[in-house]
Amino acid sequence: MLDTSHNNADFGLYRRMLAENNLILTNIAQGAPLAQTLADIATSIEIQNPEIWAVIFLLDESGKHLRLAAAPSLHPDCSCAIDGIGVETGTWPQCAASDTLVDTATEDLEASQFWRRFSGVVQEHGLYACVAVPIRSMHKGILGIVAACLQQPDRGGDKHRQALADVTALATIAIERHIDQTEIRRAENAALERETRIALAIEGSGTGVWDRNVATGEIHYSTGWKAILGYTDSEIGNRIEESYTRVHPDDLAYVKATIQAHFDRKTDSYSVEHRIRCKDGSYKWISSRGKVVSRDAEGNPLRMIGTTTDITAMRALSERLQQSVDLITSLTNEVPGLVFQYCQMPDGAAFFSYASEGIRDIYEIAPEQVATDVSVMREIIHPDDYQNYSASIAASAASLMPWHLEYRVILPTQGLRWRQGDARPRRLPDGRTLWHGFISDVTERKRIETELQEFATIDFLTQLPNRRCFMARMEEELARIQRSNGMSAAVLMCDLDYFKAINDGYGHAIGDQVLKHFATILREALRKNDTVGRVGGEEFAVILADTGFAEAALFARRVQKQIADAPFVGGGEIIPVTVSIGISAMKPSDANVAASLSRSDTALYRAKGSGRNCVEIAFD
Ligand code: GH3
Ligand code: MG
Ligand code: MG
Repeated sequence: MLDTSHNNADFGLYRRMLAENNLILTNIAQGAPLAQTLADIATSIEIQNPEIWAVIFLLDESGKHLRLAAAPSLHPDCSCAIDGIGVETGTWPQCAASDTLVDTATEDLEASQFWRRFSGVVQEHGLYACVAVPIRSMHKGILGIVAACLQQPDRGGDKHRQALADVTALATIAIERHIDQTEIRRAENAALERETRIALAIEGSGTGVWDRNVATGEIHYSTGWKAILGYTDSEIGNRIEESYTRVHPDDLAYVKATIQAHFDRKTDSYSVEHRIRCKDGSYKWISSRGKVVSRDAEGNPLRMIGTTTDITAMRALSERLQQSVDLITSLTNEVPGLVFQYCQMPDGAAFFSYASEGIRDIYEIAPEQVATDVSVMREIIHPDDYQNYSASIAASAASLMPWHLEYRVILPTQGLRWRQGDARPRRLPDGRTLWHGFISDVTERKRIETELQEFATIDFLTQLPNRRCFMARMEEELARIQRSNGMSAAVLMCDLDYFKAINDGYGHAIGDQVLKHFATILREALRKNDTVGRVGGEEFAVILADTGFAEAALFARRVQKQIADAPFVGGGEIIPVTVSIGISAMKPSDANVAASLSRSDTALYRAKGSGRNCVEIAFD
């Protein structure tokens, strides 16, 4: 730092200077105020060079202005004027902009505007500006300037420059140290502020903090931690054994095992929910989380810190929620049928997002089998109904109208069964469609409906369509004929001859048997598209589709022959019966079904008149 080329004559001076410098270095080491240190530096220059008065400038915080930092010997008026020379420079610490008054990049200070102004001001106070050197830091660029002025004009510029350069190094150390300390203090303040904020946030959130010394068995709790349990700061001990006595007895083993697992490095951190006894003896639910932060060389835990949060209210809420879920699940599972939520994605993929236990009965599958896709439904739903099933869901999704469908399923155990589905669709913002609904077993209802339908349309004695049903079939046939030009059908009216006599001779029950027997013969004589009906007591009518008179007459005679060849045998007795038949054609021009029936009746009347067991045709 010091130039050892000073000659021997200067030795005493040099020693004094060294002592001064040591003093300054001690000052710096002890963190004396910067202004004081810089004043000492300036003084040390003057002691070593009595003809010099030193002036130290520093760049201010903005890095733009040079301010007077020390000028111990100058008259206050002169100091004040120097401080006000208003020299601007670049930005501290990189103040090297070429358009500034001090071109610190060149270090040729004595050619700068600063120098001109400085010289001018000191001259006004009877002094002579002598030399200036920059205070330059390795890392931070220019920090300031040390200048000297003389009380007499002198030409020994280089000697003065060397003296200034020596102490400038000291000034650099002092200033850098000052800057470093300022920065450290700022960082410390920021860290402290951060810590305070975190601590406040933790306390404010109702979270307690604990710090456990595993080796000594001590545990320290924050005020907030104690407050959770209703204790004040002084009311709680710091032994881990004592802390375990507050844990609910049913939870203690679990808590200890969880801590041990973390001590043994089986877990990354410790996290447990358990009950803890408060000051008033009641229990609270808490969530405790922590982590071992230091271990010894063998890996044994030394210190663990963590937080504790009161989750009593949250537990109560989640218990209530669970109860609601349980209630809904029990309700839906107890309902005889399938309660479901069905979800269809925008791409058409679908699944049961919820299916009650009833699915085991309704479809004979488990809820999981339809939880991700519904491909299994293809095997469950009756092949004749599957298309209708898919189409009805698609239509409901498109229109957002309620889904309603009765369809058949074929199940491994129950076999063929009827199901009825009802659900309401809802479109979600993301494009999914969600149905909530219910599927029930309607097999029994369907059976009763079919039975009722049969009661209404089937004649109980002969099991043939009754008059009402036959007339409906007549209407359908007439409509068909009228639609398809050129088609016709034959309408036959059959009346058993002297039937009253059979009743009278053998009894009404035998008469019934004869009616059934004749009905069987008629039914067996029909082709697929023909229709028969019992239209009166012993009167039967037949529609032969796409049939002309000749063919109809053949049919009629065949029936007559069959009843003749195979008469009813009751109680070992043959009961012969004949039948008279009138035939007419159902025509597209017929106004109604009564027209052809009436023509057949007329023909029948003629057949009766012709001696019975006859076939007559109404050709009109
Ligand atoms: P015809 O040759 O002129 O037709 O003489 P018929 O005796 O058959 O005619 P009629 O109309 O006089 O008698 C019909 C009889 O059919 C009268 C009625 O008691 C009987 N009859 C009607 N319905 C039933 C029934 O359900 N069971 C029985 N056993 N007899 C019935
Ligand atoms: Mg009759
Ligand atoms: Mg009769």
